[in-house]
Amino acid sequence: MDEFSLIREFFAARASARGDVAIGIGDDGAVVDIPDATQLVLATDMLVEGVHFPVDTDAYSIGYKSLAVNLSDLAAMGAQPAWATLCLSISTARDEWLRAFADGLFDLAAKYDIQLIGGDTSRGPLTATVTAYGFLPRGEALLRSSARPGDIVYVSGELGDAALALAAASGVVSLDAATRTRVQTRLDRPQPRVREGQALRGVANAAIDISDGICADLGHILRASEVGARVEVEKLPVSQDYLDHMKTDAGWDMALTHGDDYELCFTVAPDRIKALHALWQDFDCRLTAIGEIEAQPGLRLMRCDGSCYEPHRTGYVHFSGPTDE
Ligand code: ADP
Ligand code: MG
Repeated sequence: MDEFSLIREFFAARASARGDVAIGIGDDGAVVDIPDATQLVLATDMLVEGVHFPVDTDAYSIGYKSLAVNLSDLAAMGAQPAWATLCLSISTARDEWLRAFADGLFDLAAKYDIQLIGGDTSRGPLTATVTAYGFLPRGEALLRSSARPGDIVYVSGELGDAALALAAASGVVSLDAATRTRVQTRLDRPQPRVREGQALRGVANAAIDISDGICADLGHILRASEVGARVEVEKLPVSQDYLDHMKTDAGWDMALTHGDDYELCFTVAPDRIKALHALWQDFDCRLTAIGEIEAQPGLRLMRCDGSCYEPHRTGYVHFSGPTDE
């Protein structure tokens, strides 16, 4: 199949039709309308085989996750997603693989009324790079740089299951089949907190999505905001499966320092906490306060008994030396 038939069959034919897209896939560029008083937010993240997902990952999950990780970034900005573009590099064009990849991508796109409006396709090592585009009311972006001392630090959903899945895949922990499937789904098909992120506009002071582990990602908020935080490790929202396995394995480390959870971490001033709890009624994921922003720079991980907790590593960093792994 040539490149143009491939684009037509697997991508153009399946893109939904939003009213604000004048020209979608098929011309040299896409043409879209942006509502008045709106800012456009763009997020792009690449998924590289063997780096961001294991070589044996199924095509549906790769398609799904290539969009999900970008929706997670838009969510962390408080933006409403609208469009996406896809740059896909594949070594061979196999129909079955492409169909499953497109199923994953379009299933998630349909959930949030997102139209695929363009991209590029090339032969090469397997890489899927989505750019997601979304709207924000002017000036209302949730930033990393606006946490204030006294803010409470919150996390959506649960942390650590993606790390548990990777640990199981590499034989570090052994899980029963049902648990293995559940955590593998959390790793391969994370739920971007799209609606939660938008609802946090005007309520959260600062926000980030957790792609590299809470230590690393909260650390970005702290540095950008020139503040510090005290986090109570035993309050981290982990699943029952995680609790069952942590005793024999890495304790809290996997939940603190491994990525791929795609939950939101955000800070809320004390006088907005009531509003936060009210708006969270609409959502079916957990909401957990894990600590507090303080003026003194640095991240202080504490146990309930007041002692310090030292993780063995701080988060995933590309190009770091072997000692940082
Ligand atoms: P050009 O040579 O002008 O870049 P292409 O042949 O690369 O054109 O792309 C033709 C059309 O198909 C463009 O509208 C482009 O945005 C779209 N397109 C190419 N690859 C993809 C893809 N993987 N997903 C969605 N749209 C794509
Ligand atoms: Mg092109």
